[in-house]
Amino acid sequence: MGFSAGGRSRVWIFDLDNTLHDARPHIFPHINRSMTEYVARLLDLGAEEADELRDAYWKRYGATLIGLIRHHSVDPGHFLRETHPVLDIERMVVGRRELRSVLRRLPGRKIVFSNAPGHYARAVLQVLGVGDLFDDVFSIERTRFRPKPQAHGFVRLLHAHRLAPSRCIMVEDSLENLRTARRLGMKTVWVTESNYAPAWVDASVRQLFRLPRLLHRL
Ligand SMILES: [Mg+2]
Repeated sequence: MGFSAGGRSRVWIFDLDNTLHDARPHIFPHINRSMTEYVARLLDLGAEEADELRDAYWKRYGATLIGLIRHHSVDPGHFLRETHPVLDIERMVVGRRELRSVLRRLPGRKIVFSNAPGHYARAVLQVLGVGDLFDDVFSIERTRFRPKPQAHGFVRLLHAHRLAPSRCIMVEDSLENLRTARRLGMKTVWVTESNYAPAWVDASVRQLFRLPRLLHRL
């Protein structure tokens, strides 16, 4: 146990939102509302205009935050604190009871790698009762605000932990983010409800509890 076919121990790199928990029912709507309100307040816009601007930044930079930093000198720490919930988070996180036992059955070190801020990621992990199972939470601050799917954060994570990509298995719901992981030489697991997975994905699962049964492929 703990060793892949290559004889070297595996390192699991988990995305957070919609991978370790379901952010769709409560958390993402909350973050969306908060970001629109933040932009509206900052630039004195109506909700609709604020949404349009967010959308434009999202398409251009992959994140609202990056556009706000570049064009409006927004302090990223302030933006992230204001838009990511911590209060009441235990009522917003939708997790699965078996998560802890599933993670414990996966041999090797585990790291969270998220485009979300550290304070929020750690709060979610605590609610899920799995914070102690991860060696590190590599949050957006640690990528110097260069979110996935950009390779920059992946490379920083690999350097910080002195990891060869061939030892790493990235578990993610975003195919775009997995594509970068794959290009860097990591194995990939796609968390998806889709019945179709591209051939380059090493495994796809609807729920993480399937993962221990797929170890032979990873
Ligand atoms: Mg995700």
